[in-house]
Amino acid sequence: MDVRAILEELELDADVLDGVGGAPHRETAGGAESVSINPATGEPIATVRGLDADGVERVVARAQRTFETWRSVPAPRRGELVRDLGNALREKKQALGALVSLEMGKILPEGLGEVQEMIDICDFAVGLSRQLYGLTMPSERPDHRIQERWHPLGPVGVITAFNFPVAVWSWNAAIAAVCGDTLVWKPSSETPLCALAVQRICDRVMEAHDAWGVFNVAIGPGRVVGEALIRDRRIPLVSFTGSCEMGRHVATAVADRFGRSILELGGNNAVIVLDDADLEMAARAITFGAVGTAGQRCTSTRRVLATPGIIGPLTERLLEIYAKVPIGDPLDESTLMGPLVNEAAVETMMKALDEIRRDGGEILFGGRRLDGPGYFVEPALVRARASMPIVSCETFAPILYLIEVADLDEAIAVNNGVPQGLSSAIFTTDFRAAERFLSERGSDCGLANVNTGTSGAEIGGAFGGEKETGGGRESGSDSWKAYMRRQTATINFGTALPLAQGIKFGD
Ligand code: NAD
Repeated sequence: MDVRAILEELELDADVLDGVGGAPHRETAGGAESVSINPATGEPIATVRGLDADGVERVVARAQRTFETWRSVPAPRRGELVRDLGNALREKKQALGALVSLEMGKILPEGLGEVQEMIDICDFAVGLSRQLYGLTMPSERPDHRIQERWHPLGPVGVITAFNFPVAVWSWNAAIAAVCGDTLVWKPSSETPLCALAVQRICDRVMEAHDAWGVFNVAIGPGRVVGEALIRDRRIPLVSFTGSCEMGRHVATAVADRFGRSILELGGNNAVIVLDDADLEMAARAITFGAVGTAGQRCTSTRRVLATPGIIGPLTERLLEIYAKVPIGDPLDESTLMGPLVNEAAVETMMKALDEIRRDGGEILFGGRRLDGPGYFVEPALVRARASMPIVSCETFAPILYLIEVADLDEAIAVNNGVPQGLSSAIFTTDFRAAERFLSERGSDCGLANVNTGTSGAEIGGAFGGEKETGGGRESGSDSWKAYMRRQTATINFGTALPLAQGIKFGD
């Protein structure tokens, strides 16, 4: 598919696109124009006009108005809207997956994988729409019943990062919609076209269900649209995905008005490899984790913590694999690693490599910027020590630190010795070591895997991390509870009025 065909298929072929959806109420955005760039060529793809403050106000007001009616639609019927959204995504999977590759730079199988994840979470949410269960508890008072009910919360603000330009929105949107909430989505300024394409798909589905205003997009700069959403008291929940630095700002602003936030922030993920590991399996998982998406996943593998008997052969194997990684056009079938997202990302990687050299790290492979257009780099393999300050930072680029550790105890201590707590993995054939890693004395991360890598989570489990990763949970399991408000109801079906704790009051 060429660029023109992708844009046409997704109804994005106008000269200037308005960064707001909701047809037939499609409005002019009113704010400044910005150009979306193809990171593989450095060339413009399309121009998008963002929202100004008035535009954001209109979108939030629409989400609020729709919430007043959407919350009373029975949950299984809300699920029907989400089922049709999943089906519409199936129809557009190829084009939308290709647009993700084109605009963000991840390779096509990963772009398609993102859309598949959207479809999967829609399926999950449809089932969930009949399972928004509350508990019933025994009351200490005779002829009384205590029941927990879950009610819709309100319009949810969803602010997303550039590296998962469509999937992260869907984790929030599919679940929030069946929970009876409406949404306002502010996507990354690097990937406005992906968001507009998704909104076009939502527009058609909402039209068929006469449910305008459930899904709303609000494209524009963080300082305009992002700031408006995090400070707006009509938005009881802000789900934010992005850097720890921005997450701290968002969390503080939302908490200041007693709003709630779901924070999905940076990771610094390690793979522990013990002497008894299956070396080939570990090497493949590490390569996918470190090189996949050009090291720009929150779950990317950034540190390998290997014991003395295996670090040598593992390093040799990784050097062999790294030398053969095909780097190039993300839409080309033979490519395994595409570009970084923009010039600033290349500069950040080069600065990190300078710091590594200064602090005595040894660059064993790669780390060069590639000649030619676009933002291509070689992935870097670095021999490092856990005590080097840069190793504790998330550099959002394909830099992998190889660190020798004495044994499992030291490996767990180093795994846990960074500020972030998103994903972690161990490769071992010793079940005691594996269980220890998963125990309360093991990994302190939200995700902990055995004999599989740090990236590539499935939507069935709750996704998120601890410490500076923010503590949020999205996607499967009981993450839906964050999108609803809990009400505890006590019902007296007797003829007396006994008080709790046996209190006598004027009896
Ligand atoms: P970022 O923090 O630069 O931007 C995230 C979002 O915040 C963007 O939409 C941006 O426009 C918006 N924003 C900017 N200023 C704002 C403001 N004043 N108020 C509100 N929003 C504002 O992050 P990025 O570079 O797009 O993404 C990379 C980061 O995201 C990495 O740290 C990565 O680990 C993290 N991430 C985490 C997860 C996770 O699930 N834990 C998933 C994906 C990405």
